[in-house]
Amino acid sequence: MNKKYIELLEILCCPQCKSDLEFIEKYLFNENTEDELLKKIKGKEISGYKCSKCKILFPIIEEIPVFLIDKTIKLENG
Ligand SMILES: [Zn+2]
Repeated sequence: MNKKYIELLEILCCPQCKSDLEFIEKYLFNENTEDELLKKIKGKEISGYKCSKCKILFPIIEEIPVFLIDKTIKLENG
């Protein structure tokens, strides 16, 4: 099920710092947000791509990986 997303790792990098990304299968997004797109995943367990260097997660929303800097989820623990 997640195979296609994992395969993408080979060609993707962080658009901000160009580092390699890590696939995160389950992340519970539960922050308050005014962003219409991020509201769709609030309280839900999602998958995404993590950049350890930037400490951000690029979420997969409705099966679409979103690589927009202003739609990322900040990770407190890196
Ligand atoms: Zn980065």
